[in-house]
This record gives sequence, structure tokens and C-alpha cells, in this order.
Amino acid sequence: MIKVIKGKYKNISLKVDYDYNLIVKAPKKVSDSFIQNFIISKQTWIDKQIIRLTDIKDFRKNYNFKDFVYLFDKGIECRENKKQFYENAFYFQIIPLVKTLAEQCKLSYSNVKLTNSKRIWGSLNNKKEMKLNWKIVILPKILIEYIIIHELCHGKEFNHSKNFWKLVSSYIKDYKIRKKLLERYSFLLNEKLY
Ligand SMILES: [Zn+2]
Repeated sequence: MIKVIKGKYKNISLKVDYDYNLIVKAPKKVSDSFIQNFIISKQTWIDKQIIRLTDIKDFRKNYNFKDFVYLFDKGIECRENKKQFYENAFYFQIIPLVKTLAEQCKLSYSNVKLTNSKRIWGSLNNKKEMKLNWKIVILPKILIEYIIIHELCHGKEFNHSKNFWKLVSSYIKDYKIRKKLLERYSFLLNEKLY
């Protein structure tokens, strides 16, 4: 299905959502024929997104969130108090890991907070407060490390500039592979786990 939303947008944008709907957001003044042509011109990109999404959906089948909790990508049978498990994992595993990695990399931060974002894994603001998505605990450790180091590097380079990625690669040589791998887990951000 194609959903066109016209509103106070500066530019025309395109997204394929998790149910394979095509979402087009466009400024009010843009004509329908312009939008149609725009969609046609983006067909290759749309096809790529659909393949990517199918890959993510296939990958999701490896998990059973009803009967298991996951820590560092390993399932543990659990049907009750899942929220407690994940919060404990966050406070007892992730927060100490941030401290260790910051020391190893000689990068600083002020504190770490848990977030519930449906969009991002982590962020670091200009006061160097790190927010990490609690679902991070489910990921393989190499991806958790990538996310934490990525955020720590924002303490020195705020944007995703060339220098930023250079800094990341000085700590994680294979960061590109990890970044790519992390995409497969993006379904988690929207997943209800308890
Ligand atoms: Zn970033």
C-alpha cells in the first residue's frame, strides 16, 4: 500500500515501513503526478528496502520472546518478570561495560541512562550524558561494544563526519561490518519483549 502524507515538510521523503507500506511525505504544494514520478524514479531503492526488510524478518524468526529472555544473544528460558531481568542486565552488565570501554579508549562521559526509544540504540548529548536503549542487552557483545564506543566517540566528534568515523575505526577496525550487522537487529527496536 502507498500512503501519501502531505504536510509542513520541507522535502519529499520516502520510507518502506515494517509491513511493506510505502510512506511518502511531501510538502503540501507538491502535485500528485510529481509524487508518482518520484516513486517511479526510486523503484530500485524501494526494491532494495524490501529485500532488506525481508532479511530482517527472516532473521527475527531466530528469536522466541514469549518463552525466552536474551542476554548477549543467548536465550534463557523465562516466562515471568522479563522486565526485571532486562533491567538488571542493563544495570549490572551494560553500565559497567561502558565504564570499562571508556577507560580502555580514554574517552569520557558523565553518566549513563536507560532509554526506551523505538528509533535509536543510543545517544550522547553535549553534556556527555549517554542514553542507551535497554534492548541493547539482547545484542551480541561485539555490537554492544560498537554502540557504546560509537556514542563515546561523539564526546569528541559530535556529527557523523569523516573524523568521527576515523576515530571509531581507531578503536574498532571492523566497525563497518558491525554497523551492517546491527541493521539486522533493528526489528528489536519496535518489538514488544514483555
Ligand atoms: Zn552516532
